[in-house]
Amino acid sequence: MDVQTSTRTELIDITDRVRAIVKESGTKDGICVISTRHTTSAILINENERGLRDDILEMLETLIPENKSYAHNRIDNNADSHLRAALLGNSATLPIEDGHLVLGTWQSVFFVELDGPRNRSVNVKILES
Ligand code: ZN
Repeated sequence: MDVQTSTRTELIDITDRVRAIVKESGTKDGICVISTRHTTSAILINENERGLRDDILEMLETLIPENKSYAHNRIDNNADSHLRAALLGNSATLPIEDGHLVLGTWQSVFFVELDGPRNRSVNVKILES
Protein backbone atom coordinates (compact mmCIF):
# COMPACT_ATOMS: atom_id res chain seq x y z
CA MET A 1 0.00 0.00 0.00
CA ASP A 2 1.24 3.48 -0.84
CA VAL A 3 1.09 6.16 1.83
CA GLN A 4 1.65 9.78 0.87
CA THR A 5 2.75 11.91 3.82
CA SER A 6 2.57 15.69 3.98
CA THR A 7 4.81 16.83 6.84
CA ARG A 8 8.11 15.80 8.45
CA THR A 9 6.50 13.89 11.30
CA GLU A 10 2.94 12.65 11.45
CA LEU A 11 0.73 9.72 12.37
CA ILE A 12 -1.49 8.44 9.56
CA ASP A 13 -4.35 6.09 10.42
CA ILE A 14 -4.23 3.18 7.97
CA THR A 15 -6.69 0.92 9.87
CA ASP A 16 -9.45 1.08 7.25
CA ARG A 17 -7.03 0.29 4.44
CA VAL A 18 -5.60 -2.70 6.32
CA ARG A 19 -9.13 -3.92 7.13
CA ALA A 20 -10.03 -3.67 3.43
CA ILE A 21 -6.99 -5.78 2.47
CA VAL A 22 -7.94 -8.41 5.06
CA LYS A 23 -11.52 -8.47 3.79
CA GLU A 24 -10.42 -8.70 0.17
CA SER A 25 -8.14 -11.65 1.01
CA GLY A 26 -11.12 -13.65 2.23
CA THR A 27 -9.05 -14.92 5.16
CA LYS A 28 -11.22 -16.19 8.02
CA ASP A 29 -8.54 -17.07 10.51
CA GLY A 30 -4.89 -16.10 10.50
CA ILE A 31 -2.28 -13.47 11.11
CA CYS A 32 -1.75 -10.06 9.54
CA VAL A 33 1.70 -8.49 9.52
CA ILE A 34 1.87 -4.79 8.70
CA SER A 35 5.39 -3.53 8.01
CA THR A 36 7.07 -0.45 6.66
CA ARG A 37 9.92 -0.79 4.18
CA HIS A 38 11.70 2.35 5.33
CA THR A 39 14.33 3.13 7.96
CA THR A 40 12.78 6.47 8.91
CA SER A 41 9.18 5.44 9.50
CA ALA A 42 7.35 3.12 11.87
CA ILE A 43 4.15 1.18 12.48
CA LEU A 44 2.31 1.84 15.72
CA ILE A 45 -0.96 0.69 17.24
CA ASN A 46 -2.69 3.13 19.55
CA GLU A 47 -5.67 5.43 19.94
CA ASN A 48 -6.53 7.85 17.16
CA GLU A 49 -7.20 10.92 19.25
CA ARG A 50 -5.87 14.26 18.09
CA GLY A 51 -4.31 15.24 21.42
CA LEU A 52 -2.67 11.84 21.82
CA ARG A 53 -1.25 11.98 18.31
CA ASP A 54 0.38 15.31 19.25
CA ASP A 55 1.56 13.83 22.58
CA ILE A 56 3.25 10.93 20.80
CA LEU A 57 5.12 13.29 18.47
CA GLU A 58 6.08 15.47 21.44
CA MET A 59 7.31 12.40 23.33
CA LEU A 60 9.54 11.52 20.37
CA GLU A 61 10.93 15.07 20.29
CA THR A 62 11.62 14.91 24.04
CA LEU A 63 13.33 11.52 23.90
CA ILE A 64 15.12 12.06 20.59
CA PRO A 65 15.40 15.78 19.79
CA GLU A 66 15.61 16.75 16.12
CA ASN A 67 18.50 19.15 16.60
CA LYS A 68 21.30 17.36 18.36
CA SER A 69 24.82 16.38 17.35
CA TYR A 70 24.31 12.86 15.98
CA ALA A 71 27.05 10.80 14.28
CA HIS A 72 24.77 9.87 11.35
CA ASN A 73 24.25 13.55 10.57
CA ARG A 74 27.84 13.66 9.25
CA ILE A 75 26.58 11.85 6.12
CA ASP A 76 22.84 12.50 6.25
CA ASN A 77 20.66 14.96 8.10
CA ASN A 78 18.09 12.66 9.62
CA ALA A 79 19.62 10.73 12.52
CA ASP A 80 16.67 11.64 14.74
CA SER A 81 14.32 10.04 12.18
CA HIS A 82 16.26 6.76 12.20
CA LEU A 83 16.48 6.70 16.01
CA ARG A 84 12.76 7.38 16.41
CA ALA A 85 12.00 4.61 13.92
CA ALA A 86 14.28 2.23 15.86
CA LEU A 87 12.40 3.07 19.05
CA LEU A 88 8.91 2.51 17.65
CA GLY A 89 9.62 -0.51 15.46
CA ASN A 90 8.87 -1.29 11.83
CA SER A 91 5.95 -3.68 12.11
CA ALA A 92 2.82 -4.78 13.91
CA THR A 93 1.26 -8.23 14.01
CA LEU A 94 -2.47 -8.69 14.50
CA PRO A 95 -4.71 -11.75 14.63
CA ILE A 96 -7.50 -12.29 12.10
CA GLU A 97 -10.59 -13.98 13.53
CA ASP A 98 -13.94 -14.57 11.82
CA GLY A 99 -12.63 -12.63 8.83
CA HIS A 100 -11.86 -9.51 10.88
CA LEU A 101 -8.73 -7.86 12.17
CA VAL A 102 -8.67 -8.25 15.96
CA LEU A 103 -8.38 -4.74 17.40
CA GLY A 104 -9.77 -3.22 20.57
CA THR A 105 -12.36 -0.45 20.35
CA TRP A 106 -9.74 2.27 20.79
CA GLN A 107 -6.96 0.71 18.77
CA SER A 108 -5.95 2.03 15.37
CA VAL A 109 -3.06 1.09 13.11
CA PHE A 110 -0.80 4.04 12.31
CA PHE A 111 1.88 4.60 9.76
CA VAL A 112 4.31 6.95 11.49
CA GLU A 113 6.18 9.31 9.21
CA LEU A 114 9.46 10.42 10.77
CA ASP A 115 11.24 12.06 7.83
CA GLY A 116 8.60 13.33 5.45
CA PRO A 117 7.00 14.43 3.38
CA ARG A 118 7.53 11.36 1.21
CA ASN A 119 5.77 8.69 -0.76
CA ARG A 120 5.97 5.57 1.40
CA SER A 121 5.32 1.89 0.95
CA VAL A 122 3.67 -0.30 3.59
CA ASN A 123 3.50 -4.07 3.23
CA VAL A 124 0.51 -6.05 4.48
CA LYS A 125 1.17 -9.79 4.65
CA ILE A 126 -1.62 -12.20 5.54
CA LEU A 127 -1.01 -15.74 6.69
CA GLU A 128 -4.00 -18.03 6.79
CA SER A 129 -4.11 -20.68 9.49
ZN1 ZN B 1 19.77 8.75 7.15
